[in-house]
Amino acid sequence: MRLSILSIYQVVLTHITKKSFFMSVRYGILSTSLQANSSKTDVWMCDGRRDYLPPLPANSSLNINRMSSSTTKTTTVSIAIIGGGITGATAAQTLAKQHAISSNNKSNLIIHVFDQGRRGVGGRTSSRTSTTSDGTQQQLKFDHGCQFFRADTPQFQNILKYWIHQDYVREWKGNFQSSNGMSSDREFFGMPSIPPFYVAVNGMQSLAKNVLDQVISSTSNDKSAELQVYTGTRVAQLQRDESTNKWKLHGTSGVAAYHDTPERIAQANNTSTIIGQQQGYDAIILTDVSSSFGKWHRASAGVPESFAKRVRERVGARVPLFSCMIAFDKETSIPFDAASFDDSIVWFAAKSNSKPGMESLHKECWTIVSTPDYAMDTIEETPMQDAITGDLYPNLPSI
Ligand SMILES: Cc1cc2nc3c(=O)[nH]c(=O)nc-3n(C[C@H](O)[C@H](O)[C@H](O)COP(=O)(O)OP(=O)(O)OC[C@H]3O[C@@H](n4cnc5c(N)ncnc54)[C@H](O)[C@@H]3O)c2cc1C
Repeated sequence: MRLSILSIYQVVLTHITKKSFFMSVRYGILSTSLQANSSKTDVWMCDGRRDYLPPLPANSSLNINRMSSSTTKTTTVSIAIIGGGITGATAAQTLAKQHAISSNNKSNLIIHVFDQGRRGVGGRTSSRTSTTSDGTQQQLKFDHGCQFFRADTPQFQNILKYWIHQDYVREWKGNFQSSNGMSSDREFFGMPSIPPFYVAVNGMQSLAKNVLDQVISSTSNDKSAELQVYTGTRVAQLQRDESTNKWKLHGTSGVAAYHDTPERIAQANNTSTIIGQQQGYDAIILTDVSSSFGKWHRASAGVPESFAKRVRERVGARVPLFSCMIAFDKETSIPFDAASFDDSIVWFAAKSNSKPGMESLHKECWTIVSTPDYAMDTIEETPMQDAITGDLYPNLPSI
């Protein structure tokens, strides 16, 4: 997903139509129109790719209350969001906000976010903290996934304004260079290397957590809305209960759930049970393309094959990347804070210490991101998993 756009689109799951509402998800703003008897779907694939599906009608608007066909009694709408990355966090934030605006005390909103990450929410906006092993125990910190984002659409700029106001995000004012000189025509994640660039304060991973914590806190005094975040929890199967028109989630938590647990350990600890609400959910939002693939994929949420097929057709393959984290004992004299390279191996490099909230790191910490082509060639040449045990190479759980 390009955070510069933070656009979110949906894939329509055609055969599930009993509950009749239409939820449109677009541009990071879950502008949701839930209309009785109007359509088709209650499982959604949200992803930031601009070209993933055509944009939804501009007049989409959120009205969770309309999910209920009853106009007299209070009803509860429950939504499960699979994925606690920036898309899932923004979806939860937007749903809660829209509920607060549009609620007429006739509907309650329950949002449950499920994320399988070993180190909490954040997804690919991931940061890694470690300490030096030379006895000084100095802190090392790296953003080893998403490095920065831009805000290029009015919708996302609106969200960003709030994040800046809350001090979740600040502008990253470093010395940026490219191998072609200052103003790069080399794109990084489809973004021109032209400021302003934004980063989450104290590491990219803090953004999703801050956003979700804020929603939890804002809904804690509101009896009509609730957000719960299930970390270390993998959704492995969606099951439609035709008698209640709800989706039940089956999955695992803990070691069996983490995406990098060796397969044999995951299998040995796999005790799949119903997770989240026992009675299920009215709608599911999938935020990771991988979770929308079929069973063969480790992150698969067990979506019906007809749905997985549509995602495959639209998205195609995902690209791999390598991130290398290096801490230097002595300050380097590298004359930039971040750079993109016109190189077949190295795509981007960034110095953690130049990012807001990480200036006081004692060691100079750098993350270097490879080109997708290099990562693909290397993986093809040297498999990353032991074919028999499923262990990942290198498997360094202590870092
Ligand atoms: C090395 C690297 C560098 C990047 N640099 C940039 C950059 O500088 N700028 C930029 O804009 N973008 C960058 N990107 C892309 C950016 O990080 C992603 O587009 C963005 O973080 C995606 O957010 P997301 O919430 O859509 O998905 P994700 O962050 O992938 O979140 C999805 C979450 O869902 C969870 N999940 C999946 N399946 C299941 C399941 N079945 N059950 C439970 N949980 C599940 C995953 O564990 C994950 O936590 C970079 C990506 C990488 C890998």
